[in-house]
This record gives sequence, structure tokens and C-alpha cells, in this order.
Amino acid sequence: MNRRSFFQTALTAFGALTVLSIKANSEERRRGGGTAAATGLALVNPNDPAAKGVNYVHDLKDIKDVKLQTERTGVKFKDQHCKSCVFYLKDKETTVSGKKAAPCQMPFATGKAVAAEGWCTSWAKKS
Ligand code: SF4
Repeated sequence: MNRRSFFQTALTAFGALTVLSIKANSEERRRGGGTAAATGLALVNPNDPAAKGVNYVHDLKDIKDVKLQTERTGVKFKDQHCKSCVFYLKDKETTVSGKKAAPCQMPFATGKAVAAEGWCTSWAKKS
């Protein structure tokens, strides 16, 4: 193999690998992925003013204020996770930053995800 045919072969192989890589990426996007990168979702930042306004936390156990730890519609506080809230879109649940999470229908969470184990003062029982 002379130098010219070596470079032609190398360029052809590089082109084929690039096409395969692009196809694999678009297939992952079509399937909806399952990771934050694939879905484009990020967790709500509990320090955002709107999230703070409803006392959102990624883990219910982080609520230390006993005034917030009340029973709601017959559900004990310890059982009021986002995953049992009417506003949690369970059918869109995925993994975001290592946590099970899904979009929440409350305005403060628009375009973001909330943690399945999370909580906020808007928690409402699923009917
Ligand atoms: S409204 Fe429900 S799902 Fe959304 S953050 Fe509050 S407790 Fe979680």
C-alpha cells in the first residue's frame, strides 16, 4: 500500500466512524434517553427563590421545621414525598443527577424535575 492509498483508506474509515457515531446519538435522542443529558432535565435548585417560597427540598427528611411537618388530607408527613403527590408526573420519571425525578406541574418547577423523595408545601394527595 502506498502513502496515497493509505491516507484514502484512513479518511474513508474516519468518515464511516463519524456517520455511525451521529446515527447512535440520534437514536438515543429518539428513544428519550433516561439521563439528564438525554432528557435535558435538571433538578430544581432548592435555593431558587421560587423553590424556597414553597420550601422545596430534594429529600423530605431535610424538613426540620416542625410547623411544616403536618398531616395533610389524612397522610402523615413522613409519607408525603413528591412521588406520592398529584403534581408529580410519574410517567415521565427518569434519573437526574443520580436521583429518581420527574417534572412537577407547579409553576416553580417549570422545565425542571423534582426528586421522587422530595417535598414542598404544595404537596397534595393523589386521588
Ligand atoms: S408540588 Fe408535589 S411533586 Fe411538586 S415539588 Fe411539591 S410535593 Fe413535589
